[in-house]
Amino acid sequence: MQINADKIREQTDRYICNTYGRFPLVIVEGKGCRLKDADGREYLDFLSGIAVTSLGHANPEIAAAVCRQASTLIHVSNLFYTAPAAELAETLVKNSFAERVFFANSGAEANEAAIKLARKHGNPERNEIITLSGSFHGRTLATMAATGQTRFHQGFDPIPAGFRHAPFGDLDALKKMVNKRTCAIMCEPLQGEGGVRPLAPGYLRGIRELCDHGDLLLILDEIQVGLGRTGRLFAYEHFDIVPDIITLAKALGNGMPIGAMLAGEKVADTFVPGDHASTFGGNPVATAAANRVMSTLLEDGFLARVATLGDYLDKKLTKIRQSFPGVINEVRGMGLIRGMVLSRTAADRGVDIVKQLLDNGLIANFAGNTALRLLPPLTVTRAEIDDAAGIIEKTLAGMF
Ligand SMILES: *Cc1c(COP(=O)(O)O)cnc(C)c1O
Repeated sequence: MQINADKIREQTDRYICNTYGRFPLVIVEGKGCRLKDADGREYLDFLSGIAVTSLGHANPEIAAAVCRQASTLIHVSNLFYTAPAAELAETLVKNSFAERVFFANSGAEANEAAIKLARKHGNPERNEIITLSGSFHGRTLATMAATGQTRFHQGFDPIPAGFRHAPFGDLDALKKMVNKRTCAIMCEPLQGEGGVRPLAPGYLRGIRELCDHGDLLLILDEIQVGLGRTGRLFAYEHFDIVPDIITLAKALGNGMPIGAMLAGEKVADTFVPGDHASTFGGNPVATAAANRVMSTLLEDGFLARVATLGDYLDKKLTKIRQSFPGVINEVRGMGLIRGMVLSRTAADRGVDIVKQLLDNGLIANFAGNTALRLLPPLTVTRAEIDDAAGIIEKTLAGMF
């Protein structure tokens, strides 16, 4: 089929709300770690649709699960029981701290559910949630308010009340902010949009202790780093803590839209019929895809392989940092989410670096105006990591 890339760009720019800065590529297909554009050019995809297509593009097992379910039953609403959602909920509960799951369609919606649950648990006296500066929790009004980056708030007054932002990394400051109105602390175990910034283990454990002492809920936003990305099924497993609520989305459906809020013992029975709902939440096709995702993540050795590949990627990037000391200050991350933190001067050219990488055949992005972020699929091979590292090296050598 002939694809008119110019027409697609024109239609998009004319008819879709102007909210995204897009790369000029029209992507037509993918396979595994590779994408192809309308001109037939191939790219190594180290972004995975922002940590979504963790099991690769056009994954045959997921495609089969989606096709099978779509030709059986796409939707009936939550006024009925359906098998795929039931199976997925059981899998998520049995493999986590949680007792119950609420299904939504996106990350922001999963966080909305978490926020409502925490408020219902704490109300009427306690309904404020503290989040961290540099955080990202979504673009709906409440999740935007929860997001600890004021650039996302500008122009949208009045900002919904009930959120305060603590300075990142400062446990004492956080302690001082807790008061009798606080019901929860919400944070990402590793800030993805904030520039691939992991929380120090002692910091997150300190937050857990603070929650225990003040009878607060700990909400972990694992939308970007959950589901195998860090080399464990959930990122909290690295920190030796148990959260009260976690939220998932991105990789859960390998591209089918789905979000989930997992509630632990303290709050599992806080929601009662009528408290919350979603027409599409737990949709049979999205949950059928997610069931296939979960069974792959839980296969013997799968997560161990992610951890090993993560170490390998880290080693490669660290070597590049040593070759470009004035450009890259630090390499950080966990598993297969890694960031190359740019020096001040290099960060000014962060967007150009990403464009140049793209010209050289590698898709990555620039997160939090500080780090080149690499999010390959969890199914990436060593050879593909070698290729990506080669492209990064060549690109930086051409620019600096
Ligand atoms: C992407 C993301 C969200 C928002 O998810 P959407 O599906 O875009 O609504 C929330 N929190 C984190 C940590 C994310 O990475």
